[in-house]
Amino acid sequence: MSSFTFSRSNLPKQLFINNEYVNSTGDAKLTVHNPKDNTLVADDVPIANAADVDAAVDAAEKAFPAWRKLPAVQRRAILTKFADLIEAHAVELAELTRITLGAPYESFGKFEAGLAAEAFRYNAGWIDKFAGESFPQDDGFLKIVRNEPLGVTAGIVPWNGPLGTVGLKAAPALATGNCFILKPSEKTPFASLALGPLIKEAGFPAGVFQVLSGDGSTGALIASHMRVRKVSFTGSIPTGKKIQEMAARSNLKRVTLELGGKSPAVIFDDANLDNAVTWTANAITGNTGQVCFAASRVYVQEGIYDAFIEKYKEAMKAKSGVVGDPDEKETMLGPLVDEAQFKRVSGFIQRGKEQGQGKLLVGGARIGEKGFFIEPTVFTDVDPQSEIHTQEIFGPVSVVRKFSTEEEIMELSNNTNFGLMAGVFTQDINKALRVASEFESGMVGVNCVSLMFMNAPFGGSKESGLGRECGVHALRAFTELKTVMVNLNY
Ligand code: NAD
Repeated sequence: MSSFTFSRSNLPKQLFINNEYVNSTGDAKLTVHNPKDNTLVADDVPIANAADVDAAVDAAEKAFPAWRKLPAVQRRAILTKFADLIEAHAVELAELTRITLGAPYESFGKFEAGLAAEAFRYNAGWIDKFAGESFPQDDGFLKIVRNEPLGVTAGIVPWNGPLGTVGLKAAPALATGNCFILKPSEKTPFASLALGPLIKEAGFPAGVFQVLSGDGSTGALIASHMRVRKVSFTGSIPTGKKIQEMAARSNLKRVTLELGGKSPAVIFDDANLDNAVTWTANAITGNTGQVCFAASRVYVQEGIYDAFIEKYKEAMKAKSGVVGDPDEKETMLGPLVDEAQFKRVSGFIQRGKEQGQGKLLVGGARIGEKGFFIEPTVFTDVDPQSEIHTQEIFGPVSVVRKFSTEEEIMELSNNTNFGLMAGVFTQDINKALRVASEFESGMVGVNCVSLMFMNAPFGGSKESGLGRECGVHALRAFTELKTVMVNLNY
């Protein structure tokens, strides 16, 4: 029988250190509200302090020698069981996220739990297959290259994919024999804090997988800790830069950064219109636009422009119709995460309208009077220099521009410091592949956009990130190469 008893009326509010729930040694607390009506959810979630972080690091260091040596089949069994447990508790975990993120189960919670479970299964499958290298002994020396775990590692994650990002970070870290400390976002702490009973039930030894709730101060303690060897971070660009700086100033810990985006979708005259409309409308509204790789800049060639705009407008209007109470089964899109995010997104829309940064095609208004619901919004004829065209809004707001030539649009697409995702829509395979290679981004969709796969590298170029998650690349990011040279001639 599972000991998982958490729910919205029994919230987890303790740190999970060394396989036990413990109180923080300090008094600092987080406050979280439900974005559907701004009611208080809790004001007593602990903010882990320096002593708490040290306690977790001590426990992790103690657990590491035995964990790294655990036979592959046993480690695989633990990760696989954890995946099963996440799946078995998907509804409860999603509810614990929904009460502070506002994302409906059918369109998001289910997907996110599935992503986390799949991440654990996928990485468990690698455990006995992540071989090193060896080089021939023709010169009298056999060279063996080993993949060594790093030791105590950590994941600092954002609020927009609280459980999915846990899978993307914890699974490869633990699969490769590291211990892992998870620091969820201050806006969505509960699904992470609730993992304790599942961590124990899966069979992770004490100290191997721990959870510390907190805000940026806890994140900073982890990023600058002298005995944490790696931080995998997902969040905003300014925080990512701080983390890299703290890593360099402390112990040169390894860093993976998954940061923001302002991703272009380029739709050529010969594109399949319905396909392009479907992908671009879904891309900017999924999770209420709070998705790092959302296609938020839509560029449409002049020959197809009018037809595209007509259908895109209808598709985005229809999205307004599925916004609602995230606790209702038929709701597909919930509110923005909180008041700060609502003010941020509304501010962009307001200034966009007032300053004539573009022409409002659809949306632009609040939905209802309570909670942080907003209409999916599109600006056309957008000024390329304007903030709605150049900055990440992180809400259901896209900007559209008409273009005539491929050269012109590739220049505009790449004229940014972001480089996470891009999409090209055309039925000409040569053009698709040419454009795909021209995009300065970590990922490109051809006749699709804003998607990811567990077995293919995920991440950004330029200021959108450093390193890659998913596939074998995630395991590489949590290991260090060691070259062993064997003298065969003595
Ligand atoms: P954020 O940078 O504000 O916070 C992310 C995490 O960092 C949180 O856990 C926070 O507590 C912590 N943090 C804040 N200040 C810190 C500090 N000084 N030191 C250490 N940790 C600190 O980002 P957010 O608002 O939670 O998330 C939104 C951003 O994340 C967007 O820019 C979005 O594009 C990006 N994002 C990127 C990806 C990706 O994979 N590329 C995925 C999801 C979100």
